[in-house]
Amino acid sequence: MIKKIDGTTRLCGVMGNPIAHTLSPFIHNALAEKMGQNLVYVAFHVKERLADAVKGAYALNVLGMNVTVPYKSEVMQSLVEIDEAARSIGAVNTLVRVDGGYKGYNTDYYGLGRAMQEDGVTLKEKPVLLLGAGGAAKAAAYLCASMSANELYIVNRSLDKGEALAAYIAKCFPQFPVKAVSLSEAASLPRQNYTAIQATNIGMFPNAGVTQLNEAGVYDRIDEAIDLIFNPAETEFMKRVKQAGGRSVNGLKMLLYQGVTAYELWNDVKVEESFLKELYALLKKELESHG
Ligand code: NAP
Repeated sequence: MIKKIDGTTRLCGVMGNPIAHTLSPFIHNALAEKMGQNLVYVAFHVKERLADAVKGAYALNVLGMNVTVPYKSEVMQSLVEIDEAARSIGAVNTLVRVDGGYKGYNTDYYGLGRAMQEDGVTLKEKPVLLLGAGGAAKAAAYLCASMSANELYIVNRSLDKGEALAAYIAKCFPQFPVKAVSLSEAASLPRQNYTAIQATNIGMFPNAGVTQLNEAGVYDRIDEAIDLIFNPAETEFMKRVKQAGGRSVNGLKMLLYQGVTAYELWNDVKVEESFLKELYALLKKELESHG
């Protein structure tokens, strides 16, 4: 069936570089169709002049935008307002149209929280092992502190970046115990049942089958884990957690929920639970068809 586009069709989209492999148009156009909204969502390959792109989108009455790599921090300079969590994390991936410009949100943060809750990966009162110290890890670390995890260990290839992230979280949440450790130190952490969050690029398609955490002793201590990677559907990290007797899930629900949260913000609607299940199944199928 051909979608009816007319003079009242609203436009949303995603800006990034590169952008060709984004799954966001799939998610948002499926949502618009299901919710019966006259809205289309497209990908914009913004190679340069990000500030002009944001201004242009506003002038063209674009309802909302997602922003992806490499612009999640830079875009903050072009906004009229920024949600508190996004400001603290230092990254915006969703622009919501308000008077005079766009307000920025970090729906990766909300999406990760929603996905972990639904998949039963616990943060509250748990010790957490976070792999990575980049943009996604920062959102995850902020989530751990705001969801009352017991303590947080940040393990990153570049220890200085892990330490900088730990210092930043300690500044935002002065009572929260957070520490950066090197990869070799990870095997000698206190023996307890950790929730682990894998937030590096290691193991992502096409370089699957590897993990940066190779010490078997660490996996014995992980009882629940999420890998933010969703391609492949089961990463080496997830396999090793399972082999050691733990439970692990991938990042596809986080992707879904960062999109759904953005859609709900743009349209002031609540997407029904029953459709979320259907959309998740469709998204999985779409990802498999792309290899
Ligand atoms: P980023 O800011 O570039 O950070 C990359 C992280 O991976 C850093 O900690 C970096 O360590 C580490 N890393 C990269 N290459 C490495 C290597 N060869 N050996 C060891 N460590 C390495 O990226 P990001 O935006 O945080 O994304 C991280 C992951 O999260 C990606 O896989 C991305 O697809 C995923 N993600 C998923 C969702 C979702 O919706 N499911 C959303 C956002 C991100 P150094 O500090 O040492 O460089």
